Amino acid sequence: GGPAIGIDVGGTKIAAGLVGGDGRLLQRAGRRTPRPVSDPASEEMKAEAVEAAVVAVVRELGADAPDAPVGVGAAGWMDRSGREVLFSPHLAWRNEPLQERLEQALGRPVLLTNDADAAAWAEWRFGAAREETHVVCLTLGTGIGGATIVDGRIQRGRFGVAGEFGHQTIVPGGHRCACGNRGCWEQYASGNALGREGRGLVEAASPIAHALRAAVDDDAALVTGALVTQLAAEGDPACRDLIDEMGQWLGLGIANLAAVLDPGVFVIGGGLGSASTALVETAEHSYRRSLSGRGYRPFARVAQAQLGAEAGLIGAADLARRR
Ligand code: BGC
Ligand code: ZN
Repeated sequence: GGPAIGIDVGGTKIAAGLVGGDGRLLQRAGRRTPRPVSDPASEEMKAEAVEAAVVAVVRELGADAPDAPVGVGAAGWMDRSGREVLFSPHLAWRNEPLQERLEQALGRPVLLTNDADAAAWAEWRFGAAREETHVVCLTLGTGIGGATIVDGRIQRGRFGVAGEFGHQTIVPGGHRCACGNRGCWEQYASGNALGREGRGLVEAASPIAHALRAAVDDDAALVTGALVTQLAAEGDPACRDLIDEMGQWLGLGIANLAAVLDPGVFVIGGGLGSASTALVETAEHSYRRSLSGRGYRPFARVAQAQLGAEAGLIGAADLARRR
């Protein structure tokens, strides 16, 4: 079929593109996810601001593709019908009838799905999980997104919210999470977690964190997960330690998932997963050291995503085209 428009709405950015039938990105567009802090009381305003940004980005990409359907993969928990965002830890949507609102604003059919489901779909169709029958995909960005594909079907659960692996409790009583619980996996292995740990080093004026402290001029508020990832890749030992710690947590959670789901491959993607090969490698070691019954059962592959941070928008577009 013809091209489709794919949008990936994350907690930090909105990535969008016009995507060909072969999964190739023909044109791209993007925005930062709006977070008007000026009026923290107005959740509704924030929800509308994100919606308006999605509409703007579709208009930009759709100018030359009037017939292109739209697929939106968003960091939220969709109901089974794909009409409503029930909840989102990182966005302001609460029981939001987003699909209808977008279709009305755009005058085009809109498919709405979870961002990690969309990314997993893209990796299965065009990337690291091609030909695999049992796939678990993890997207590491603001949080941890999760998805399972069995025999080419995304597993959505009875109510549409399967695959929220980032909110398995991995440390009882641990860090607070935006889902309402404490100690969720995504508090220990995500871009946000990496940023928080990096800020901790700067706040403590840690003597081992010179590179990080210099990069932000000792202003902890400027530390992001992306910055820590970049310094780690450049070889800074303190930032590498943080990535290493994160990889240990990641592997532990992957071993838990293997105990339940027994996939053939774990694909690790998202902004952070795609940027750090070291993280994926550490996670694989840690998984192999934690798997129950190891030595007597096959290990799943742990593979870095092939479509990188674009997987979500590519998958959303492909799902929209196929519907
Ligand atoms: C949300 C997921 C989302 C993931 C990645 C998690 O906190 O619960 O729905 O897929 O973050 O964006
Ligand atoms: Zn949580």
